[in-house]
Amino acid sequence: MPIAEYFSPDYASARERFRAAAARAAAASVSYVLPDHRGPNGEMLSLDVAQLGAAEAQSALLVIAGTHGVEGLAGSGCLVGLLEDRLHEALPTSGCLLLLHAINPYGFAWLRRVTEDGVDLNRNFVDFSSPLPSSEAYERLHDWLVPKAWEGEIRQAADAALGAHAQQYGFAALQAAVSGGQYTRPGGLFYGGARETWSARMLLRVLREVLPATVQRLAVLDLHTGLGPPAYGEPILDAGDPGARERALRWYGPDVRDLSAGESVSARLTGTLARGIERARPKLELTLIGLEFGTRPVMEVLTALRADHWLHLHGRSDAPEGAQIRQQMRAAFYSDAAAWQAAVYGRTADLAFRALRGLGG
Ligand SMILES: [Zn+2]
Repeated sequence: MPIAEYFSPDYASARERFRAAAARAAAASVSYVLPDHRGPNGEMLSLDVAQLGAAEAQSALLVIAGTHGVEGLAGSGCLVGLLEDRLHEALPTSGCLLLLHAINPYGFAWLRRVTEDGVDLNRNFVDFSSPLPSSEAYERLHDWLVPKAWEGEIRQAADAALGAHAQQYGFAALQAAVSGGQYTRPGGLFYGGARETWSARMLLRVLREVLPATVQRLAVLDLHTGLGPPAYGEPILDAGDPGARERALRWYGPDVRDLSAGESVSARLTGTLARGIERARPKLELTLIGLEFGTRPVMEVLTALRADHWLHLHGRSDAPEGAQIRQQMRAAFYSDAAAWQAAVYGRTADLAFRALRGLGG
């Protein structure tokens, strides 16, 4: 099968393709249906999990597609490829492979980055019973990021204000303020939520119910798009334990960038998946890599995100501009070009193989 056929144009066909590939690989499968929501064609929305390898595994590789909804278009193709190319045959004898397809199925189906409740899943793993991280830097920008009108003078004034802010403080500071994670503006960009979202609960269920209790070492590849050079795939380490950096460099090589050290194309983030996994399975030796595949220039991606949030805060998603903005989001986070897809899948398969070798060593 050509690599381009691993990829699907939308959520519904991606889900079918993943389930068929999992069945052909004789994987054990389980689905978690998102209640009260449907896709654009009335289709059911679910997180689908495929599992291969030893039942009482000591180590595991977990590959996640669709943490940021729309980015699942790329991630899904990679999961299908791993199954079709039978990468699990490289598993160590005491290892298992878990593939999570569409952990945020609403965002995937509706071409949004956030979940059904407007939450950035990769900012949602904070302790909601404690004081939340500061949103002060985002607060200064919110009204410019999501102006009341998307056309005309109000939008022009907002763009000018953002441009002036970037000039004064630098682009890195702007990126950190916008994307680090905020907890005060529901409907805003990179909103971490006010409670644990459905997708977060499902990840924790998978860790407790599907990942064998015998697993002691866990490698995670969390597949993302929208940042960095086109199709490159920057491996971004998100580590809680001090040994993870040495491990990641040994397994994956010197391309690894440490999120907490500020080395990455991504800003430092709060409430990421790694924090949730650490809380759910605190005894695991965790090596989590977020893979970031570039798509379009960063300002174009930001503009698509702003349009999407404007649509849901101030516009009407069934208005004519709704369909156009969804296409803008799709183009900002995915490419239909076969060369881009081949590069994205090749990088993912290479890192998955290195992870399996690292877990076995
Ligand atoms: Zn992402």
